[in-house]
Amino acid sequence: MRICPAIPRFLRTFHNSVEVKNRFAATVTPILRRFEHVISRNVWTVVITLSLLCVAAAWEPSPSYSSPQATKKAFHWPAGKRVAVSLSFDDARLSQIDKGLAVLDSTGVKATFFVNPGGVEERLEGWKRAVAGGHEIANHSVSHPCTGNFPWSFHNALENYTLEQMSQQLDTANAEIQRLLGVHMVTFAYPCGQKFVGRGRQMKSYVPLIAEKFMVGRGYYDEYFNDPAFCDLAQAGGTAFDDMDYIQMVKYISQAAEQGGWVIFVGHEIGEKAHQVTDATALAALCKYLQDPAHGIWVDTVESIGKYILQQRGGQGE
Ligand SMILES: [Zn+2]
Repeated sequence: MRICPAIPRFLRTFHNSVEVKNRFAATVTPILRRFEHVISRNVWTVVITLSLLCVAAAWEPSPSYSSPQATKKAFHWPAGKRVAVSLSFDDARLSQIDKGLAVLDSTGVKATFFVNPGGVEERLEGWKRAVAGGHEIANHSVSHPCTGNFPWSFHNALENYTLEQMSQQLDTANAEIQRLLGVHMVTFAYPCGQKFVGRGRQMKSYVPLIAEKFMVGRGYYDEYFNDPAFCDLAQAGGTAFDDMDYIQMVKYISQAAEQGGWVIFVGHEIGEKAHQVTDATALAALCKYLQDPAHGIWVDTVESIGKYILQQRGGQGE
């Protein structure tokens, strides 16, 4: 029987290495015993130091998640104005025509009304006067879909909408208002300030739909005013001012003026101050304040200010 020559070579090497190991142990053990107390005292120091060295060697800096850098662009309002303000009112509420129009027209301020066709039909002649008076009429959908968590929107819940259905809402409202008032609407306000359809993994934002169909899409209950050089016009911030008094309104505008912002106020009913009712007296005082040249305010419709921003950006709304 032939034996592979590698096997005896391996056995010889193994035997030799065992012998070397024994000899090494015989030499080193007495030395270790002699310094045993020193070693045991320092063993933890050595272990800890070695561990730290290993960790340091193995450590790689984690990838840095730096935020995208944006360059602040210069933006100037026309005629040296410091701030822009739009007054907007939603839902085509009756008091907007019955009470609000007279207040606005007596001061010359032009507002934006985000309407639903049904509300317009209830005061059709009044809305025609609003158009003739230079106010902007804008889209607020046909049936005002919001989350079904509001009991009144349970059967018209955004959670059950598709983008196609939402698109139909927008187109139908455009066509209806065109028929009733002869105006082509170019801005939109999200009902309830909500910008989604569907739910969970099927949920979709309908902001891109608004960007496609309108120049400006306005939100509601946003905690900021718009930076004209930066804001996404498809989701411009809207500030509720129904519940503010005159002093609060002026204070908010002064804050925006410090940063050259654009405030879009959002109201509903117009009359005596209450929940979702803009105080008519405060509104009259505010309009006077807005038009005083000393304050450097450009007050105009969402459409006019949106158009100016778009032009300044070379057509880039997003
Ligand atoms: Zn609304």
